[in-house]
Amino acid sequence: MKCQQCSRPALMSWGPEGLPLCLSCSTQYQALIADQFDQAARAVHFAQSQIGAVLGYYTPPAPPAPRKTVIHAPTTNNINVANAGVVNSGTINSIGYAVGSLGQAGATGAAEAIKALTEAVLSDPSLSPEKKATVLEQLSVVAEEATAPLERRRKAAVMASLRDIGTVVSISSGLAALAEKLLPIIQAHFG
Ligand SMILES: [Zn+2]
Repeated sequence: MKCQQCSRPALMSWGPEGLPLCLSCSTQYQALIADQFDQAARAVHFAQSQIGAVLGYYTPPAPPAPRKTVIHAPTTNNINVANAGVVNSGTINSIGYAVGSLGQAGATGAAEAIKALTEAVLSDPSLSPEKKATVLEQLSVVAEEATAPLERRRKAAVMASLRDIGTVVSISSGLAALAEKLLPIIQAHFG
């Protein structure tokens, strides 16, 4: 079963309707509920102390639990972002989801080519952050289109993106050589 919020597999069901959510979305949902409860508890505590002050009796303090520091692990599924510098995690995530779905659908060649090119772009020191962002955005367009059914893939837009990617990565000889190998594999997926 798929997560109701994203394309990952569902792990747990939540609420009276049994909403299926993946691990990442479950974590966010649970944090939301905990925040709402915490806010209500703080309001009750404040009201109690006000009433106590007006009526002149002492309300035993029931301070709300201190807020938890929640450190969300980066959800960069499928894409290794080591040495990537500052990148848009949303773009990386959408490439990651697409790579995951392509792999599941059996399009492992395209999935691996997109993954390898993304990781190479991320870790290449010769591309400026702006150039990296441009290429990654193009790659996310290509990756998303790749997951659509063959007849609905916007081939012309994808070919333009692949050409743009080829042009930008030609700054780096290592990337250019890799792109020369990988872009045709990605292109082949679009028929
Ligand atoms: Zn999810």
